[in-house]
Amino acid sequence: MKRVLLILLCAVCLFAGCTKQAPHTTKELFAMDTVMHLTVYSQEDGVLKQGEEEIRRLEKLLSVTNENSDIARLNQSKGQWVTVAEETARLLTLAKDYAKQTEGRFDPTVYPAVQAWGFTTDQNRVPLKEELEGLLPLVDYNQIEIKGTQVRLPKGMGVDLGAIAKGYAADKVKGLYETAGVSGILSLGGNVLTVGQKPDGTPFSVAIQDPANAADTLGVLTVTGGQAAVTSGDYQRYFEQNGMRYHHILDPKTAAPAISDLTSVTVIANSAAKADAYATALFVAGKEKALSLAETLNVQAVLVAKDGQILCTDKVQFTPS
Ligand code: ADP
Ligand code: MG
Repeated sequence: MKRVLLILLCAVCLFAGCTKQAPHTTKELFAMDTVMHLTVYSQEDGVLKQGEEEIRRLEKLLSVTNENSDIARLNQSKGQWVTVAEETARLLTLAKDYAKQTEGRFDPTVYPAVQAWGFTTDQNRVPLKEELEGLLPLVDYNQIEIKGTQVRLPKGMGVDLGAIAKGYAADKVKGLYETAGVSGILSLGGNVLTVGQKPDGTPFSVAIQDPANAADTLGVLTVTGGQAAVTSGDYQRYFEQNGMRYHHILDPKTAAPAISDLTSVTVIANSAAKADAYATALFVAGKEKALSLAETLNVQAVLVAKDGQILCTDKVQFTPS
């Protein structure tokens, strides 16, 4: 599977947040299967270490591929109740809420389909139509049962928090920055979150990558401190077979890569977890529905259509390149 990690490297250069004048310290790390940059406007880099530890802790707790994680244990539970950390139960509850709000376009129970396409193992394959049809009854967020820290999934079902975990981790690291009283900008593989104010008082800028050319940007978003700008797109992770391209954002209604007239969606919101889940959902929704859905969900969005058209919700401040 091709991984275009540049997207957010670019989003890091996104750093309008990181102007040349402002002294800052940046930590680069690879976690949750992507490149991350944590930047703080200070020479004091203790919070960066804490941030990295927090991200690694969450990866251990939530990763589908770490067989001891809460999520992996749940996925192996064959219909039995499983005790998870309070935080995992809360995040699953949040994921269910986002699934409901997006009418199932974001659905954490899409995991059996993610597996069928080989997106977790990098051994990609194109499943037969019948196989995908057989998986559809297993994709239904309503069937996740949560009672305190006890969680149950019907046999055969599985959850994957991949479309929300990086956003959630960004929100948690932001909390660490706030406790330390520092400002900065976090870029967790397409999930950009600004914290506090830039030292020079100017707003943060976040570049949106050109989906057709990783080295180019389409323009720059202006966001206020504390806001997240999260991008999902069909050009980030995909594989090709027999001349066809298969990307990693699946439509829970078909268990196959979403057929969308969009190529990239950026959602701006006050929480990165929310923006992460909604960006995936808006991509699945497609151009026509995505703008009204963003309005209903009360978030701002920038949509890039496959034909190159760029659409923004009312309050977005976007300056094309
Ligand atoms: P990325 O992780 O590349 O930033 P997303 O946030 O859109 O992109 O998450 C995509 C990941 O989430 C996929 O790799 C898969 O594990 C999972 N996923 C795919 N489609 C959906 C969906 N419709 N709802 C929830 N999770 C999904
Ligand atoms: Mg997402």
